[in-house]
Amino acid sequence: MGLQEYQRKRRFDVTPEPSGIARMGQKRFQDLVYVVQKHRASRLHYDFRLEWDGALISWAVPKGPSLDPSVKRFAMRVEDHPIDYAAFEGVIPEGEYGGGTVMLWDKGTWVPQQEDEHENVEAALGKGELKFTLRGNKLKGSWVLVRNRRFGKNPSRSSWLLIKHRDRYASTKDVTESEPYSVASHRLLADIARDEGGDAAKAASGDPIQKKRRAARTWGTN
Ligand code: MN
Repeated sequence: MGLQEYQRKRRFDVTPEPSGIARMGQKRFQDLVYVVQKHRASRLHYDFRLEWDGALISWAVPKGPSLDPSVKRFAMRVEDHPIDYAAFEGVIPEGEYGGGTVMLWDKGTWVPQQEDEHENVEAALGKGELKFTLRGNKLKGSWVLVRNRRFGKNPSRSSWLLIKHRDRYASTKDVTESEPYSVASHRLLADIARDEGGDAAKAASGDPIQKKRRAARTWGTN
């Protein structure tokens, strides 16, 4: 898909997000990177990203992933992001595209369950059924993304479902509630916003209620 849409939407002299210009097309990792970024923008969502072909192919998952194989989570395919974005956690200024707080919620590597040949992942994306194994801190085991609707001809706008396969990592535990902290810094959204000049009250609305109160006490605004 390329990074043109990503770059067109952002002003890199204003947002701290990576431009992707230097890294485009370079392969820096032996294993394919996987990340989920919890993003309190105009609405809370989880950005699910898989390294492929020098970029991060990306889906926005409003409710976040579920470990329960009977639960299908809506996932909107969004524009590819640069590989460097996998390390991004911080505050996108209000008024900029995606303005709000970004947490690195999970990270690790992924393995396509189709054979790991280039053509096979491309074919799976084209066919609308991508099976893969996650080796993250929070999300592990076998998953599938299934496309259920296209919007016009733009491949960066289609609706998919993110589903856990039944394996030993399947669970009815609500992982978004039980694991609300950054995998990089162990902060909540409110902590990240406070530390980095963002809107802490808005960010806190994306944190679980009890954790949010505890965080609020530690910085004395309760
Ligand atoms: Mn986002």
